Amino acid sequence: RPRVSARVAGIAESATLAVDARAKSLKAAGRPVIGFGAGEPDFPTPQAIVEAAAAACTDPANHRYSPAGGLPALRRAIADKTLRDSGFAVEAEQVLVTNGGKQAVYEAFATLLDPGDEVLVPSPYWTTYPEAIRLAGGVPVDVFAGEDAGYRVGVEQLEAARTERTKVLLFNSPSNPTGAVYPPEEVRAIGRWAHSHGLWVVTDEIYEHLTYDGVRAASMPVEVPELAETCVVLNGVAKTYAMTGWRVGWLVGPRDVVKAATNLQSHLSSNVANVSQQAAVTALTGDLTAVAAMREAFDRRRRTIVGMLNEIDGVECPLPEGAFYAYASVKGLFGRTVRGRTITSSADLAALALDEAEVAVVPGEAFGPSGYLRLSYALGDADLVEGVGRLQRLLAEAR
Ligand code: PLP
Repeated sequence: RPRVSARVAGIAESATLAVDARAKSLKAAGRPVIGFGAGEPDFPTPQAIVEAAAAACTDPANHRYSPAGGLPALRRAIADKTLRDSGFAVEAEQVLVTNGGKQAVYEAFATLLDPGDEVLVPSPYWTTYPEAIRLAGGVPVDVFAGEDAGYRVGVEQLEAARTERTKVLLFNSPSNPTGAVYPPEEVRAIGRWAHSHGLWVVTDEIYEHLTYDGVRAASMPVEVPELAETCVVLNGVAKTYAMTGWRVGWLVGPRDVVKAATNLQSHLSSNVANVSQQAAVTALTGDLTAVAAMREAFDRRRRTIVGMLNEIDGVECPLPEGAFYAYASVKGLFGRTVRGRTITSSADLAALALDEAEVAVVPGEAFGPSGYLRLSYALGDADLVEGVGRLQRLLAEAR
């Protein structure tokens, strides 16, 4: 018998974490690596949140187990925030606090899927979705939309991929990795189509506050209220409040599903760390001024990075409307040679960039088809310009 179960042996390492770890270890070894790999704001967590957490450390109540579903104050704050930010009215009982948004992704699929159930996954997708779906016994079915479609799938494509086994549609807008934001009318069309076929929608709204040029992130169950009983919303504090290390996320859904997911979590991890939950209460009940300042910085970097990428012959990068990723098509470089290395895939190109320019980027293979690079622009302005400048100089050698 194999030492590792087939289920777990089949999981690929998170490519984004792997790129980030490689960049950080080269950096630790003294190399001047510039990392565009991690989906992580470079800002510190706002001070008021940190202070609330420090105070929470001294309260003995926080030294103990707390309810698996989350601190009542945090579940209430999440319900209130959901109404405030997206217009979706929910009760605190419809909230499960999870160990980061990532755990919410896994628990949502584990709760909804039986073996063989299919999930439609718009591609390029965040690398965790297919793995979480497979771990939960489901079958991810990719539905690809390229740069020509603004990286947004349409109803006809989804319908072509639907089968008798389809149970769930995964939806993520603003998108990691592409930064695409679906306009409200497209959210409505997709949601109504899903509802008309009795499909569930798992919608990941973790980048809801990071949109640019006046674009608004429309929430699926608000645009399509008839989905209320068959929709699970995923979210968390990581991206909005620069709180990636605190590990607080959540899912919001119909009571029966939230109850079942809470049972699962009660055996998996019990409650999320109380100090982190208290920090999240302060984040969610405070105002959004810190995120507005971060958004301004991200917007400036977005324009810089996309402008510089498009100056490279063979690279095409649409201006993303949300999140903090630029998703560039690099198919124009395929077949060309740089320093004796012929580029035949985006994985080749990412390896070349790291070896020859000490620039870490994530290849499209991590998110769907080859032919793309994802660059996170959640890093300092000077590093950003230096890093893309190195890519420009390296790729100017392509013949
Ligand atoms: N959903 C998306 C689309 C993400 O990009 C991420 C993080 O990269 C998450 C969820 C989960 O974030 P966390 O587990 O840090 O809360």
